Amino acid sequence: MMRRFPLEKFQNLDTPFYFYDMALLESTIKTIKRLIKDKPYHIHYAVKANGNPTIMKAIAAHGLGADLVSGGEIQAAINAGFKPEKMVYSGVGKTDREINLGLEHNIFCFNVESIPELSVISDLALKRGVVANVSIRVNPDIDAHTHRYITTGTAENKFGISVEMLVDAVKTAKRLPNIRLRGLHFHVGSQLTSMKPYAMLCDSVNGLLDYFDRLGISFEMINVGGGLGIDYDKPDVIPIADFEHFFDTFARNLKLRKNQQLHFELGRSIVAQCGSLIARVIYVKENRDKKFVIVDAGMTDLIRPALYQAHHVIQNLSAGGPGVETYDVVGPICESSDVFGVNEVLPVCHRGDFIALRSAGAYGESMASAYNMRPLPKAYFQK
Ligand SMILES: *Cc1c(COP(=O)(O)O)cnc(C)c1O
Repeated sequence: MMRRFPLEKFQNLDTPFYFYDMALLESTIKTIKRLIKDKPYHIHYAVKANGNPTIMKAIAAHGLGADLVSGGEIQAAINAGFKPEKMVYSGVGKTDREINLGLEHNIFCFNVESIPELSVISDLALKRGVVANVSIRVNPDIDAHTHRYITTGTAENKFGISVEMLVDAVKTAKRLPNIRLRGLHFHVGSQLTSMKPYAMLCDSVNGLLDYFDRLGISFEMINVGGGLGIDYDKPDVIPIADFEHFFDTFARNLKLRKNQQLHFELGRSIVAQCGSLIARVIYVKENRDKKFVIVDAGMTDLIRPALYQAHHVIQNLSAGGPGVETYDVVGPICESSDVFGVNEVLPVCHRGDFIALRSAGAYGESMASAYNMRPLPKAYFQK
């Protein structure tokens, strides 16, 4: 069954725009809440996946926390109603101004990515006469076999502190007067559709916890990050990610200590399927061996295909007859990578037809740019 879109409403709107199904967002969040209800689990929504204020408010209203990667995101999360005591803040390059903003709001946790960052946070906290809550981000050196630009947990990667330097970092954090070390933080990668990397992560965490037990060091919380993938090929068949299998993998494999809390940072899996990018066909163009559908959305509106060779399901929403054609679907931007699909079999396309690029709710609107001096895409919401 293909999702139906309210075309009569689209007639009066300027394309391209993002269109969000808020009912799907609601049922996705409800699924998560139901699955973790009786567990010591806490969810922080990774705002970088979609920072649209309406989306953020809807998620904050359910009581989820926020996972942030800049001062701008901290401010936006506060504006949207997320509670500072449920905010975690990651990033390899936190500036003094950004750290101060986190301290000012007394956020739940800074996910610290280096030993120099630990001392800077301690100094800034000392100046304000406060204590900073931190976790240490560990690079678990797990290859999640995802695209090289979205792998974050391997040794050659810039993120986190290597296992070899972890004891040093933990001891430094324990020694610094204005640091309260809450726990350890991990994030393996993004768009993971196999549970294997998560099971491997659990093994690593178990090993580290045993090791720190022997040193007499315990942690009140473990944060395993996010990265749960969605089905980009079947947005209508599988509109909600496999959260059951995901949480179950941690429940079965991770040996949490007594009263230890488990935190997650989920971005894509919460918002990806609720969003579509809606465009119109500007021209249908024929070259010697190819037919092109040129749409008015481009890589400035949705950069994932150009950046990660990602593919989003493409639909012609205005399809009239039974005939199909094979097209390359491309945008208007002056870059050869501005291509949404090659050899797409679509109902015959005409100028003015509405085209939907599905599963675009995550890393779509939030990564939009004004390259070529294009306006940023607008957003509309269906209750
Ligand atoms: C991006 C990011 C996430 C969210 O990743 P998703 O793949 O969107 O779930 C979580 N934690 C950290 C540290 C991140 O950088």
